[in-house]
Amino acid sequence: MLFREVIGQESVKKELRETVSLNRVAHAYMFTGPEGSGKLPLALAYAQYLNCEHPTETDSCGECPSCKAFAKLQHPDLHFVFPFVKDKTRDKICCDDYLQEWRDLFAQNPYISLEMWQTYIGVENKQPIIYESEAAGDESAPRIKGIIKKLTISNFSAKYKVMVIWMAEKMNETCANKILKILEEPNPNTLFLLITEDTRYMLPTILSRTQIVRIPKIDDESLAQRIREDFMLDGDELQSIVKNANGNYIQAFKMATSDNAPSQYFDLFTRMMRCAWTKDVVALNAMVDEVDAMGREKQKSFLQYCMRQVRENFIRNQNIPSILYMDKQEHAFSEKFHPFINERNVSGFCREFNSAHFHIVRNGNAKIIFFDMFMKITALIRS
Ligand SMILES: [Zn+2]
Repeated sequence: MLFREVIGQESVKKELRETVSLNRVAHAYMFTGPEGSGKLPLALAYAQYLNCEHPTETDSCGECPSCKAFAKLQHPDLHFVFPFVKDKTRDKICCDDYLQEWRDLFAQNPYISLEMWQTYIGVENKQPIIYESEAAGDESAPRIKGIIKKLTISNFSAKYKVMVIWMAEKMNETCANKILKILEEPNPNTLFLLITEDTRYMLPTILSRTQIVRIPKIDDESLAQRIREDFMLDGDELQSIVKNANGNYIQAFKMATSDNAPSQYFDLFTRMMRCAWTKDVVALNAMVDEVDAMGREKQKSFLQYCMRQVRENFIRNQNIPSILYMDKQEHAFSEKFHPFINERNVSGFCREFNSAHFHIVRNGNAKIIFFDMFMKITALIRS
């Protein structure tokens, strides 16, 4: 991964390059930021830059043997720990058993969410975790090598041996404590790159041992430019994706590759609000089946769409046109709808959409979640 392949994030790239030019490379970093902001691509661009044989001031060369191996995630001194599900029937018992899938998914799109990974390895309905044995190894199964072993057995030419721990918040406490021990006794020329969406789930002792790299959402301009290039989109469609993606490339990618999802969400959202206002429970119940059939990815995107519509209509209600983002059909619907989103119910709407999103992410029953949400909206819209 080259720095120039990472979308936006210029100030983070500058900060990382400066650790090299000022000779201040730490032994452990914690890349933290929201989904789709580019934590993994940035961490890998940094690791590649540190090991490049002919780096320029701003980027890796992309041509040397080290760069070529890093680009394919195949460098012998680049190691990964990530959440997975042990499956003895398929002989999948450690991260290394999933390495090919990991490389393949990354090659398709380096912006990976936990859900994309779950789907890719066929464990949608299970919670992947980082097992204790990934940190410490397992004496009864020599194939499972712990971190120390992985970092010491290889003796290749890399300037830095790199251990990437993706979704570090998925470590259980025992595992986290073992990692902590390792971080407390750093080896020279070994680099730990931990990646997390939420530092609140990390042990404070681990956080204190790492240099935190905060990664913000991708700025709209950089995101728009990338979507335009990647998907040949422009105009209203491009604007709508960028606004709905909210700095999250994974979200933007999904919208750009799914069949006119934003207009499907618009249709659902407007019907949901109309039926809620008229208390048409029969129609709402039918909508539950419709939403259930969309699948979890689209359900999540739809809920995010609902949150954005509530925000926009509230802003219109507050009469602040300068920060209002709606496309033509949303604007037309909002003409009559915006008075219904007001100080009395706006936080209730946000709470309900957020709560539904929370439960969908955690594999809750979509029919129950959406029926409950529709009923609450029916009450909220009249307040
Ligand atoms: Zn290079």
